[in-house]
Amino acid sequence: MEYFSAYLPSLIISTIRYFVMAGIPFLIVYKLYNKHFVENKIQERLASNKDFLHEIKNSMIANVLMIAFVLLFTKTFLVQYTQVYMDIGSYATWYLPVSVLLALLIHDTYFYWMHRLVHTKALYKHIHLVHHKSINPSPFAAFSFHFLEAILEAGAIVVIIFLIPIHPIAILSFVLTSFAINVYGHLGFEVAPRWFRHTFLFEIFNTSVHHNMHHSKFVGNFGLYTRIWDRVMGTEYPDYVKEYDRVQARRFGAKKDKVGKAELMVNP
Ligand SMILES: [Zn+2]
Ligand SMILES: [Zn+2]
Repeated sequence: MEYFSAYLPSLIISTIRYFVMAGIPFLIVYKLYNKHFVENKIQERLASNKDFLHEIKNSMIANVLMIAFVLLFTKTFLVQYTQVYMDIGSYATWYLPVSVLLALLIHDTYFYWMHRLVHTKALYKHIHLVHHKSINPSPFAAFSFHFLEAILEAGAIVVIIFLIPIHPIAILSFVLTSFAINVYGHLGFEVAPRWFRHTFLFEIFNTSVHHNMHHSKFVGNFGLYTRIWDRVMGTEYPDYVKEYDRVQARRFGAKKDKVGKAELMVNP
């Protein structure tokens, strides 16, 4: 059966993806160049090796479940009810990147409401608490979920393939982009460039500080990629921008920021 023959290769690829995409930023920021990133650190507290191992262990268990769940809808008879298309020529070429953006948008909404759901009293203690064991998360926390939450998380892909026509290349691009942003959100270090704060992008998109506050304070800042739902629903921490500015001021210095702007005005 296609489901079983696809399972092991998918699990291996997904595991390699996890260790490469979470492991390389971890090695760079936490180990090889940790002195260079001292000022980027969001929380004072240092996470221990025990914390990292806990995150890796949970991520591995979650990964086993997530793959099993997604393949149920892509490698069994159920695929015929989804909108996955195999012939890339079935839709215009421009639709391929658009479908990736649509998938990210759907995921942003799905995640916000699923996240609110697992923060309800009944589900938090039994399911979501595993993810919140990482009070000071590292990139390895990206998949650190209770196995039931792993299924809810993977549910995003299922919703997407039922909602919009999507090619496997677009699914793969979505999965990789999503994981990269997930790793950034759990990095524990803010790496957003200085200019980001002064653009409209800051008003829309999340930062590592944004999700880090969710881990250190437990409620509020529920969003995944954007601040939109948090702002609409009034769940963003009122001191988020202040906290972001505090971290960035330490990296760039308030003075340096002013000098930077003055130079820009003189030499546009
Ligand atoms: Zn949470
Ligand atoms: Zn998290």
